[in-house]
Amino acid sequence: MDLVKAKKYLGQHFLKDENIARRISESLSDSIGNVLEIGPGMGVLTKYVLQRNYPNFWVIEIDEESVRYLENHYPELKNHIYFGDFLKLDLSQLFLAEKFSVIGNFPYNISSQILFKVFENRKQIPEVVGMFQKEVAERVAAKPGNKIYGILSVLLSVFYDIEYLFTVDEHVFNPPPKVKSAVIRLVRNDVEALDCDEALFVQVVKAGFNQRRKTLRNALKALGRSLENVPDNMLQARAEQLSTNDFIEITKILEKEQKG
Ligand code: SAH
Repeated sequence: MDLVKAKKYLGQHFLKDENIARRISESLSDSIGNVLEIGPGMGVLTKYVLQRNYPNFWVIEIDEESVRYLENHYPELKNHIYFGDFLKLDLSQLFLAEKFSVIGNFPYNISSQILFKVFENRKQIPEVVGMFQKEVAERVAAKPGNKIYGILSVLLSVFYDIEYLFTVDEHVFNPPPKVKSAVIRLVRNDVEALDCDEALFVQVVKAGFNQRRKTLRNALKALGRSLENVPDNMLQARAEQLSTNDFIEITKILEKEQKG
């Protein structure tokens, strides 16, 4: 454990508890043979994913020292380690552009960016199991009406069934993070495409939550479109009170409006 000194700027908090590593690995289904682990570090979780014998298992790690450690301690991973930044990775180059699932005790400093990347690449990613800081996990799994319901809750829940699996105490990490953690699972649902302009849908959701204390009437002004045909009850609500279907309905209405 001391061989690699944790690097804070890389969000390194290494798991110490093998049982939790095992539970995370067992939370991923075996229906998809291609699996990518993000940020394996020193391989605590990797070890258990390897035991699942997925036909095609790769890891991506940005830290050279960790990569060297993995090469030395996990010969089974030979030629299955990407040394690089997941956020910069062109996913269509992975697994011959086939579908793959994602697992990890993720670097918390880039949690949202990882989740946005999953959203953007949802056609290729049928399942995600991973650990995030508890607050992010709760936000992603939140339902409408909840104060913590936000952009990622809406966007991801359109295409994924999201389950909060379990909470993890900070003391099972070295070094312990300041916050608790939690493991969640996202499984792609059968929605192929929205029947509205998806780019505009994302803009509407973002505009709504960017000023979440305001009513949508005020928050959506940022879009520069006429809100004339949006029902009053929606305009008087705040973003957290709307369901995904409400956001889709608003998008459909705005699609028809000229940019003002
Ligand atoms: N899975 C390990 C380590 C978790 S810490 C464990 O549970 O012990 C997060 C890991 O993500 C670190 O090893 C860090 O180096 C790596 N990491 C941080 N940013 C990354 C990025 N952009 N792409 C890939 N790996 C990254």
